[in-house]
Amino acid sequence: MDETYIGVFADESDRASAVEAIFNAEALGDARRKAQPETHPDFDGRHCVECGERIPKERLALGRVRCVECQTTLEHQRKLMRA
Ligand SMILES: [Zn+2]
Repeated sequence: MDETYIGVFADESDRASAVEAIFNAEALGDARRKAQPETHPDFDGRHCVECGERIPKERLALGRVRCVECQTTLEHQRKLMRA
């Protein structure tokens, strides 16, 4: 969270609602990121960015840039990092 941004609200109640607004925006951003199609600088629109396998068109339609295998590995790694 950016303290300098919150600091511009001198009044304490304004400050509190500013914090709340930022928090909501971040939560919303999270939900949006999950729902939106993924992008990757190396993605060619057909092949997994990790292993180069063809991605089934059903997955491409969902905006995925990785095959099922790489996606599973990635999600597993993310869980480990969070733990
Ligand atoms: Zn892959």
